Amino acid sequence: MPHLPTVVIIGRPNVGKSTLFNRLVGRKLALVDDTPGVTRDRREGDATLYDLKFRIVDTAGLEEADAASLAGRMRAQTAAALDDADVAMLMFDARAGITPLDRHFAQWLRQHDKPLILLANKAEGRAGETGVAESYELGFGAPVQISAEHGEGMADLFEALFPLLDPLIAKAADEMPEIDEDDEEAAAERLLNEPLKLAIVGRPNAGKSTLINRMLGQDRLITGPEAGITRDSIAIDWEYPRDGVLRPVRLIDTAGLRRRSKVTDKLETLSAADTKYSVDFAEVVVLLLDATLGLEAQDLRIADMVLKEGRALIIALNKWDAAHDQSSLFQGVRKALDEGLAQIKGVPLIAISGLTGKNIDILMKAAFEARDAWSRRVSTSQLNRWFEAALERNPPPAPNGRRIKLRYVTQAATRPPTFVVFGNRLDELPESYRRYLIGGMRDTLGFDGVPIRLTLRGGK
Ligand code: GDP
Ligand code: GDP
Repeated sequence: MPHLPTVVIIGRPNVGKSTLFNRLVGRKLALVDDTPGVTRDRREGDATLYDLKFRIVDTAGLEEADAASLAGRMRAQTAAALDDADVAMLMFDARAGITPLDRHFAQWLRQHDKPLILLANKAEGRAGETGVAESYELGFGAPVQISAEHGEGMADLFEALFPLLDPLIAKAADEMPEIDEDDEEAAAERLLNEPLKLAIVGRPNAGKSTLINRMLGQDRLITGPEAGITRDSIAIDWEYPRDGVLRPVRLIDTAGLRRRSKVTDKLETLSAADTKYSVDFAEVVVLLLDATLGLEAQDLRIADMVLKEGRALIIALNKWDAAHDQSSLFQGVRKALDEGLAQIKGVPLIAISGLTGKNIDILMKAAFEARDAWSRRVSTSQLNRWFEAALERNPPPAPNGRRIKLRYVTQAATRPPTFVVFGNRLDELPESYRRYLIGGMRDTLGFDGVPIRLTLRGGK
């Protein structure tokens, strides 16, 4: 096993260290005791934050004494934990504000030159705002605001930790075995047993109800309709064959929502909210265009929203049976899409007819494939092989004669695929270069129709 970097959580009793420890190590929250000063052993565990893995040490129980005798005990034990760690996290209670004991810890930590992250815990809601403001006096800058109990702010914590652990992780990654193909196959099979969450959206009259009725009316097994996911949304559990095997599909019925909104006279507004609902629940979103009308600005707005929400997108050119001059229509829509959705070229475009059922099979195949891509993890070595080639083909610019250095890329998350690029002077990297990287990933690594998130991390 490669050596994992170690992170220690330090802070006065009852700020929530164990709660965070448990969350990161994945243990039951019930282990937390809310009696201040309950003695616990120094605990260590393997933490997971997105795909970031590290050792975590909880110092709760080492510091139960009052401030006076604290100094002695702290030096003995917390200091040992700090020495062993690569990164320290100083946690305070944002609801309680900064106390003398917090200041004591901060001062003590300032005497060490460990990389430090200041954590404002219990920051859910607004009750932590004053504590967060007070914490600037500690001299560590802006705290990372989290709620260990509710799991909020974990992405921010990831972003703070990643650059500090990066050099160590990069080293560990070199020693890590490749993701082997058996694992990938097993993961793909597991995914196929999870319902494909599919939403069909589009302007009023694009043909959503007709398509859904057609889908469900085909020789498919309908196991729903189920109770609504929310009061307003309707999920239909359904099955569809993929490679000859029936696989679960959960269809979000936006059309059903629209039928309600029709009676209210506020059609446009309500259907926008309904679309948002559907998109939130979906993994893959099919945007229906009306081929007799072509692509309109409102369609692009919906497409843009789907991508911003990080969902995989497929565009279906519906009412194909009624379309005139099909070939130039298709080319025209393709071109307008690539221009209108500049951030993501090559979204799958499929001509269908909800009325006749034409190409619904192709649409469903594309939907399963889109989810595969959306959920896929690319191994670090494959990713960096692509990265090196991409940098060689088109090196990053050198503003003022100093080249921007890009060192390393890693996939931080899936669904949607999220990548972190490490380097130096990244704030000077032009947006066009970032788009070049994202486009390259999409084409080379097979993320058609999938929004890709890319974060840049590193020094000046
Ligand atoms: P430790 O002594 O620093 O390890 O603190 P614990 O993890 O035992 O937490 C102390 C108390 O704070 C417990 O009652 C927790 O349920 C509570 N707590 C922990 N995290 C949060 C949070 O994010 N929000 C709120 N409101 N309470 C929290
Ligand atoms: P929704 O508002 O998006 O749910 O749209 P509907 O399913 O209610 O369809 C609106 C109109 O378009 C209806 O008159 C449908 O008959 C018609 N329509 C829907 N799909 C097709 C299609 O594939 N071909 C043709 N020619 N008409 C369609």
